[in-house]
Amino acid sequence: MAEFDFIVLGAGVAGLAFAKRVSEHGHSVLILEKEREVGGLSRTLFHNGFYLDFCAHRFHTNNKKLLQEVLTLPGMEMTRHEKKSRIYMFGKYLKYPFEIQNLLRAMPPAQSVLSGLSFAKNYVLRSVRKKPDIKSYRDWFIDIYGERLYDVMCYPYTSKIWRMDPANLSADWADQRFQGENMAKLVKRVLKKLVTLDFSSYSIEDDSLAPDGGIFYYPQKGIQELPDALNRAAKASGAVTLCEAKVTKISRSERTVTYEHGGQTHVAHYGDIISTIPLPAFYWLQEKRDPEVEAAFKQLKYMDIIFVYAFVDRPTVSNDHWLYFPDKDVIFNRAVEFSNWSPEMCPPGKTSICFDITTYENDERWQMSDDAISNQVLEDAYRTEYLKRGEVTSTYVHRLRYAYPVYDLNYGKLLEKVVGFLEEEHSYLLGRTGIFRYNNSDNSIEMAFQLGDNFVENKARKTIFRHEIKDVSL
Ligand SMILES: Cc1cc2nc3c(=O)[nH]c(=O)nc-3n(C[C@H](O)[C@H](O)[C@H](O)COP(=O)(O)OP(=O)(O)OC[C@H]3O[C@@H](n4cnc5c(N)ncnc54)[C@H](O)[C@@H]3O)c2cc1C
Repeated sequence: MAEFDFIVLGAGVAGLAFAKRVSEHGHSVLILEKEREVGGLSRTLFHNGFYLDFCAHRFHTNNKKLLQEVLTLPGMEMTRHEKKSRIYMFGKYLKYPFEIQNLLRAMPPAQSVLSGLSFAKNYVLRSVRKKPDIKSYRDWFIDIYGERLYDVMCYPYTSKIWRMDPANLSADWADQRFQGENMAKLVKRVLKKLVTLDFSSYSIEDDSLAPDGGIFYYPQKGIQELPDALNRAAKASGAVTLCEAKVTKISRSERTVTYEHGGQTHVAHYGDIISTIPLPAFYWLQEKRDPEVEAAFKQLKYMDIIFVYAFVDRPTVSNDHWLYFPDKDVIFNRAVEFSNWSPEMCPPGKTSICFDITTYENDERWQMSDDAISNQVLEDAYRTEYLKRGEVTSTYVHRLRYAYPVYDLNYGKLLEKVVGFLEEEHSYLLGRTGIFRYNNSDNSIEMAFQLGDNFVENKARKTIFRHEIKDVSL
């Protein structure tokens, strides 16, 4: 029987980064991936000469050491970009992240005055009132912006992407997605602009304070180059990556994994197993059962996405990297234009757009035919004057499961139950999908390097559950 120090389930960036780290220190690693390609959520499809990411995939991190390691991966070449983004509201394309003064100007006048007053009142009261008990994303947003801006800036887009009321979405999501201290600076900046009647539009200085960050890095031919480079580095140090591998059984007592690959069944022994695959998938591969964990899986949900790609016979449609569409009458959430990320993404003189639609596998949208969903996307793109009727030459549809962990108000307790059951000595969870954490790719890589370092340095504590990741810079 083959023996490995580590067997890693899943070759997304987390699994690959972990394999890179430990194999560079002489450990043997087997990575088992079910898909034909490595990359997981950070994959790039190739279709009729176009490179197609799963929506927007920019690489950015505050961790300089991590950035340096990623940018110098063998064969990795990334270009630095300044994010350009807009949001379609009140029939206009506004700069994004919001310039509140511009948002107020775009609104109908009465709504604008009331929203502006509500924002200012909230800001003043915030400094004197007792800190409220913040449980939901709604609480979190209202605490900073006030009720009226919540109705405009938060409710429409958030309820649209998550398919639920932000009052039922955990505030943890905001904490992971935005940085609170930057939000405070943002509020101050906007107030200063309002007081000085400065209604200028987008500027680079403002962007550095934006919750979404301003600078990012991106490869020439899609984000796939990132997992490919991690995989090359891991393999160069001796790690073995098997794609199209079907794991059929995990025995935690014997520390073995049974899998099918190349038409044959194999059994391999591990020192430690690292899972980056969906939590239920990892659970059902094992013989050990727990009714409470199974009950938790019924509520702990991952959200799925449909991507509709449209191919257009002109060099660019807009100069944005992406645009947001919070209007619930528009079926898609965002439009991402790949030729603005790298000219090599599209054949010369052509561009491609990715429209994303969040959904669940059992939802009627998931069941729509490719033609029906493409037609609806195009109709909405014409109505909002994002695309011109007749300029789209063709479309392509891709459906992606397990795209987002859903942080509803109960997820924390349920997750603790599941993680407590699955994580034990010699069995560890890692990454966005593997630990149900709203990670960007840099977070997944950072977690993986940290776990790898803990093994290499032989630290007793190896679990990377969400409470212990606080010191990782997000
Ligand atoms: C629409 C969208 C936009 C995003 N935008 C950005 C962005 O702009 N910037 C950014 O940094 N991040 C972004 N992310 C997040 C980023 O994609 C993820 O954080 C990262 O790719 C997660 O990597 P991972 O290895 O943790 O998980 P995954 O990529 O999910 O890896 C899990 C792997 O396990 C494999 N697997 C599943 N089941 C099995 C099984 N039974 N056996 C074997 N293998 C299995 C999967 O195929 C996959 O390869 C975005 C994600 C999405 C969905």
